[in-house]
Amino acid sequence: MACIFPCGEQSTGMSLGTDAIRDECFMREALALAREAGAAGEVPVGAVVVCNGEIVGRGYNRPITAHDPTAHAEIIALRNAAAHLGNYRLPGCELFVTLEPCAMCTGALFHARVARVVFGANDPKTGAAGSVLDLYAEPRLNHHAEIVGGVLAEECGELLSSFFAARRARTLLA
Ligand SMILES: [Zn+2]
Repeated sequence: MACIFPCGEQSTGMSLGTDAIRDECFMREALALAREAGAAGEVPVGAVVVCNGEIVGRGYNRPITAHDPTAHAEIIALRNAAAHLGNYRLPGCELFVTLEPCAMCTGALFHARVARVVFGANDPKTGAAGSVLDLYAEPRLNHHAEIVGGVLAEECGELLSSFFAARRARTLLA
């Protein structure tokens, strides 16, 4: 699997500006995967796992195609990264996803020991990073990940709303 930092340079972690650009770069990779999900008729959500500045896992939402209620973008990307790295835990890794993770995906991210989670649009229906509940701020859980939301939120949200608008239009025509 190609493992390149899309902007061509590693982040030093020293500059907020650089980190914001870096986050957007990886979110664009997740957005490209989300579009693949949409093209397959699935709700367009995409995710990448990043390890030391390299993409080591990719996934997009495919529960309908896979007949698998757990086939969210994050789960697919985690499985892909764990297989790639040969480790069921992904310490120090980051996950970028276009939509706020749900409780299931957050559980998997915590089990995998992912260090940082970056998401795009909020999910007012199932978001577990502050929208419906906030597992990232739950002190009774034994592991947490740093959470950052709102990266390219407009683009991520627009992809979802146009998908649902098109689906509604098709339903009305049917
Ligand atoms: Zn999920």
